[in-house]
Amino acid sequence: FLKLSEGLSKTKEQITKQIDGLLSSHSTINEKFWEELEEILIMADVGFEPTMKLVNRLRERVRKSGSDDPEQFKTLMREELEDIFKMPPRIKAVNLPEVVLMVGVNGVGKTTTIAKLAYRAQVQGKKVLIAAGDTFRAAAIEQLQVWATRVGAGFYAKAPNSDPAAVAYEAVELAVKEGYDILFVDTAGRLQTKVDLMAELQKIRNVLGKKHEGAPHRTILTIDATTGQNALSQTKIFNEACKLDEIILTKLDGTAKGGIVVAVAMEFGIPISYIGLGEKMEDLRPFNGTDFASALLG
Ligand code: GDP
Repeated sequence: FLKLSEGLSKTKEQITKQIDGLLSSHSTINEKFWEELEEILIMADVGFEPTMKLVNRLRERVRKSGSDDPEQFKTLMREELEDIFKMPPRIKAVNLPEVVLMVGVNGVGKTTTIAKLAYRAQVQGKKVLIAAGDTFRAAAIEQLQVWATRVGAGFYAKAPNSDPAAVAYEAVELAVKEGYDILFVDTAGRLQTKVDLMAELQKIRNVLGKKHEGAPHRTILTIDATTGQNALSQTKIFNEACKLDEIILTKLDGTAKGGIVVAVAMEFGIPISYIGLGEKMEDLRPFNGTDFASALLG
């Protein structure tokens, strides 16, 4: 498994180095210091609003500490980030099979993320089934099947253009009958109108719940860190379309804009459960706020 600091090297380049530069060029924390910090955070894609909120929180923390010595600043910022990332996982009672609904826009890495989650579950000794609920694209079904075979998971699909809710219903039926521990249900990633999206996801959720109590037990949104502020607007839309339990951010290895993680954590209060740091099935890491804050600040 990849080291967090290696996977985040591009973001570290952006944030850690810049903050180190900021700290070494100021002998005291003054207005100029805060302005430069704002600039660094915005450039790292923390986003305007979250940057303002974060800087205000940092100002408060610095004020409370009673010290305007830049040497102390990194520790204070690390503590502040840890606080921001501190979100208890939304744990629910699960009656097996655990049903996980995967949502997100095309191209964000949802298929790969399903494979990575399936791989993790397999390694833990679970019997895994993957259902191809994105029936809109034949290629999506095929690609998911390739991954299912590669990780050694079961796979359920119907013909392209079948009703995604029928796929979900039959997959959960199969999962119950054949004693699977966990079922991942893929969904289409077209961002149609919000009304359509909401209706389609609601229908899938309804049939899952009808067939198996409590299902879906988790609804996970995958977003692509390299898309920066788009990832935020996708989160907003999906969170309004269906209640999200977790967020997974992919492609953090490929971007200098890991600040988006801070923005997502500050804006939505939805736990970030994993981060994607590469294209292989091993390249998924449980998100740990303390480690992430340390990796960001060096
Ligand atoms: P989907 O359309 O959302 O299902 O996206 P895919 O799973 O097909 O992924 C799109 C592209 O992103 C593929 O080339 C993946 O290999 C790549 N990808 C997915 N996750 C990651 C990641 O964490 N890091 C990197 N570097 N690439 C990723």
